[in-house]
Amino acid sequence: MSVDDSSTSAGLTPAGPPCYDKHMKSTRQVILKARELGIGLPAFNIAHLPMTEPIIRAVRDQDSFALLEVSRIDWLKFGAGSPAAVMTEYKRHEDPQHVRIHLDHVPAIDEDQRTVDYLAIIAEALGLGYQSVMIDASRLSLEENIRATRAVADLAHTTGIPVEAELGAVLGHEAGPMPPYDELFSSGRGFTRPDEAARFARESGCDWLSVAIGNIHGAVGEATKNQKKLEARLALDHLSRLAEVTGLPLVLHGGSGIRQEDMLASMKRGIVKVNVGTEIRQAYELALREKGSQKAAQDAVYERTVSLIRDWFKLTGIRERILA
Ligand SMILES: [Zn+2]
Repeated sequence: MSVDDSSTSAGLTPAGPPCYDKHMKSTRQVILKARELGIGLPAFNIAHLPMTEPIIRAVRDQDSFALLEVSRIDWLKFGAGSPAAVMTEYKRHEDPQHVRIHLDHVPAIDEDQRTVDYLAIIAEALGLGYQSVMIDASRLSLEENIRATRAVADLAHTTGIPVEAELGAVLGHEAGPMPPYDELFSSGRGFTRPDEAARFARESGCDWLSVAIGNIHGAVGEATKNQKKLEARLALDHLSRLAEVTGLPLVLHGGSGIRQEDMLASMKRGIVKVNVGTEIRQAYELALREKGSQKAAQDAVYERTVSLIRDWFKLTGIRERILA
């Protein structure tokens, strides 16, 4: 069956993940181990296909562990092509002892306020062998978010694939100007609410939850996508409360733009996965612009990924503990 057939067939039955060594930890188990160890694994966004190889090489050279991921924005607004194109490139370089592949943000309503057929995209990704997937219905009401996430969880869980969902407003992807950050942070406006999170965890069926606790996405609009991100802070006590009431592994989006001490502290309070997009994308694009060669751009991604793992996340040499 072709990929298109699987995404449009009435049953939406995914072909299932590829079979690895049965002794190897699944991504679900890896994430639970990360929580036990107080580690937030980086998840690097593939905004351009040639970024795949240097990211995997950097993770391996650091003897670390990470996820690679692609969001709908990466294939529509940047150079990732499609979920199928990313999977093909990933397969050329895959190394399951160091990396896994995740489908990031498939929105129910996108950053331009358009409705998205998220179930078809996620069914296609499951058929391609993505090892975990995200549904982002956070622009919908709580009830509608629960319903959309439930539908994705029911589909993904038929093959044992874990589902990430989002609750609260992680701003930054929208086209318009951002409200002043300090005001947003001190008011807590848009933060994931503990009462809603507790209900969401009970009813949605999601396995991991992306929360809004002061973090923001990098800009993706034409006018702003090259700007440096402002330094975000995290409401750490709020995070602890969310971890407690949901009981779920929590995810932090907008990872590279956060104050480092807050990011590191968040790993001890339930954050198990930290998304990194803007910083490595900008490294690739800047080198490509200035040096005009793909090789130079890949070198820039390698160097930036090494420095993020070693100096920013401080996760060099964790692979053995994660897979133990
Ligand atoms: Zn995100």
